[in-house]
Amino acid sequence: MGLRILAASLLLSLLPGCTESGYLVTSLAGDPIATSRPPARDAASRYTSHPPAATAEETVPLRIKGSFGVGDRAKILRAVNEWNVALNGFVRFAIVEGSEAAAAGARPSRPWSIMAAEGISPRVVPGPTVALAVTQPLPGSGGLMIVYVDRIGTRDLGSVVMHELGHVLGVGHGEKGLMAAHYHPADQQCVDKATVAAVAAKRRLPMDQLNWCDEKVASAAR
Ligand SMILES: [Zn+2]
Repeated sequence: MGLRILAASLLLSLLPGCTESGYLVTSLAGDPIATSRPPARDAASRYTSHPPAATAEETVPLRIKGSFGVGDRAKILRAVNEWNVALNGFVRFAIVEGSEAAAAGARPSRPWSIMAAEGISPRVVPGPTVALAVTQPLPGSGGLMIVYVDRIGTRDLGSVVMHELGHVLGVGHGEKGLMAAHYHPADQQCVDKATVAAVAAKRRLPMDQLNWCDEKVASAAR
């Protein structure tokens, strides 16, 4: 497994566009202090609930590889579920095992692998930062999301994966919120409106039929 991951990251470093791809980084000096928002609550209750798409337009299969613990897998599942609420049937992430095909009836897409990597020092953006994860499309085979699990520490792996899934959908970094390039313990807890707007623009989806986490929805549900 170690060799495979090494091979994967070597491959990654050879790919064009790698340096501008989706490294989610954190400062070696520590994370910003979370003051603005309470921790994650029940996912569905803080999202808008627009009518769903009649049919699934596209399924994006995800394979989970490497030494993610049970708790880690639950966090990945949470990230996937929240994205599926946001995407509202237009695009659907589906976790698949082995060579299992994507859900019948939907337009199949190439699989993406979510890999746990340990003990690897990847190239990082200049400055006193360390990469938590990176996502890179691979020619002809969906792509690769590498999560540096031994650097996650007390950070929320679910938030990291949620951010990276934004890159899987083709969204780049934003100024703040989920798609900010720097990990933030509170601002990356859900799929926010700016991120959904970026997905809608990228994939030409109707914004008013997608969902996003909304403080007002959350407080009304409490
Ligand atoms: Zn990123």
